[in-house]
Amino acid sequence: MGSILVKNGSVVTVDDEQRVYEQGYLFIEDGLITAVSPGAPPSQYKKADTVIDASLMAVMPGMVNAHTHLFQTFIRGLADDKPLLDWLKTAIWPVAQALTEEEAYVAALLGLVENIRGGATAVIDHQYIHTEPGNDDGVCQAAEEAGLRFLLARGWTDVGYHPAFMESPEQIVRETARLREKWERDGGRIRVEFGPLIPWGCTDDTMRHTCDISQNWGAGTHIHVAETKTEVDMNLEARGSRHIEWLADIGVLGPQMQLVHSVWLDDNELALIAKHEAIVVHCPVSNMYLASGVARVPEMLARGITVALGTDGPGSNNSQDMMELLKTTALLHKVNSLDAMVLLPEDVLWMACRSGAAAFGLPDQIGSLEPGKKADVVLVDLDTPLAMPVHRVPSALVYNASVRDVDTVIVDGRVLMRNKEILFLDEKALLAQARQTCANLFERAGVVVETAPS
Ligand SMILES: [Zn+2]
Repeated sequence: MGSILVKNGSVVTVDDEQRVYEQGYLFIEDGLITAVSPGAPPSQYKKADTVIDASLMAVMPGMVNAHTHLFQTFIRGLADDKPLLDWLKTAIWPVAQALTEEEAYVAALLGLVENIRGGATAVIDHQYIHTEPGNDDGVCQAAEEAGLRFLLARGWTDVGYHPAFMESPEQIVRETARLREKWERDGGRIRVEFGPLIPWGCTDDTMRHTCDISQNWGAGTHIHVAETKTEVDMNLEARGSRHIEWLADIGVLGPQMQLVHSVWLDDNELALIAKHEAIVVHCPVSNMYLASGVARVPEMLARGITVALGTDGPGSNNSQDMMELLKTTALLHKVNSLDAMVLLPEDVLWMACRSGAAAFGLPDQIGSLEPGKKADVVLVDLDTPLAMPVHRVPSALVYNASVRDVDTVIVDGRVLMRNKEILFLDEKALLAQARQTCANLFERAGVVVETAPS
């Protein structure tokens, strides 16, 4: 794997003290960070196999995109301007029902390249389209080739959802176990966990059963909750409880639980999440896009709840751009609270990196630039008319830099992108392949693309 010296950069460590070195260096050896320091590198580091000059760049930890649906890379923009349940019926379900393993693979590979370009070095994919048995394998294959850190939250539903996507409890457990057996290797870069889709699509018994198994595996559980008011009302009607109350009632709320969206929560539910140390995954762009609502993030943080960030699928975003998410998160909560101090650039970087690492299940291994952590590192070019002059690097990263400024991405000490060029595949060829694959899929699925608002 060799060694890499990153020198002359502005190092934003996102460590416990949130240290920033205006000019510093980073040394990487065999996939791990072995030195992070201000100033010029000592002479012993200058013999590194690869030397990267990060002058006028920010050097930051790789971000964790803690919630997406990679298959939706093919359906971005297909059903803009619709609320959640309409959007599911008109855009998601028809395409998802026709998706083959090969198409899942190409969509995932394109989506992962997009994630890397946006500064994500770890992705949690809530993948619930099992219309072909190999769809999950296609997605994991793409993750293996892309080389970033990947957690497949294998989605499941066993009641009340579209019949094409429901499975028996036996099938859910068998397939998730099979995927773990097949893909959990390579030093743990790819992992698999259960991803119950939504409270109204999951029975209590299968929730309990899969959470028990997941406890034995030492794995997490990833679920959409309280995304819309309608869904909470549905749970009140069916079960007599709100979403988080329900998870607590059936005994599965805990630190391993990743609660995606968590928009419509009352005070008691916030208290339950804090008490059980569950993790919230906040998806502000998707929540705004689908007009779902505003999650109570500042109150969550005040209660000590870990809040990670996710783009959500490109069907409801329409991109997987972590740089955009940083700025959007800060701005949304400022205007919603009428408090300009409510989230600082350092806070949102913490959410994307450290809280993301916690959601990903590796809080001690990724998320900051510190000796001993895995070398997941992103370099962002600040020498642009949009950012210069830079007075405070975290501020420039959050408010000025964009996805197009992400210059270099390193995962596990392996350079996946350098000088804005993806190194592990021919990107132009992938784009051409994706266009053709998507056109074939839409034709087979009978999808009619609306060219004007309906
Ligand atoms: Zn989602």
